[in-house]
Amino acid sequence: MNLQCTLDLGRPYKSGSQIARVLSEDWCGRELYCAACKSDRLLTSRVNTPAVDFVCPACGQPFQLKSIKTWNQKKIPDAAYNSMLRAIRSDSVPNLLVLHYSADWMVKNLLLVPSVFFSETVIEKRPPLSSKAQRAGWVGCNILLDRIPQDGKIAVVTDGSPVGEQHVRGSSLVYENWQRCLLP
Ligand SMILES: [Zn+2]
Repeated sequence: MNLQCTLDLGRPYKSGSQIARVLSEDWCGRELYCAACKSDRLLTSRVNTPAVDFVCPACGQPFQLKSIKTWNQKKIPDAAYNSMLRAIRSDSVPNLLVLHYSADWMVKNLLLVPSVFFSETVIEKRPPLSSKAQRAGWVGCNILLDRIPQDGKIAVVTDGSPVGEQHVRGSSLVYENWQRCLLP
């Protein structure tokens, strides 16, 4: 696994968040495998679902990617609160990939949270955006990673080192959990 992102891809963009998105999506498409089955790659999602960024071509598991430059194992900001709540209640939350990159665009940490571990108690409502914001009144949410049990936080890259694929796919408990959330 090559942990370096391809910097050239970010050159056409000015906004930091856009660059992060382009570089990290490219990296996942190039380097990431499916942890739920033996597939050695994930495909960029062509489905028109904003929450799903990647799909496994073999088992169909959907993945959402969140890229962050400050590693916070307690909470990470996610999408709109209401749509997240709806997704949890209808059992349609994708698996979550939390990718932490360094200042020189190396993948430093990558955490995978299988969708089966999402419940309403791990979602925190954020205050509405102020009237001066572009999307005034919009209510986002945080995912409280510290409320997710350790079994639900699978390290794929830790502190700049990839964890072995076998280990990631390994634990039978984790595998059982994946089975419960396979798509029909
Ligand atoms: Zn798969």
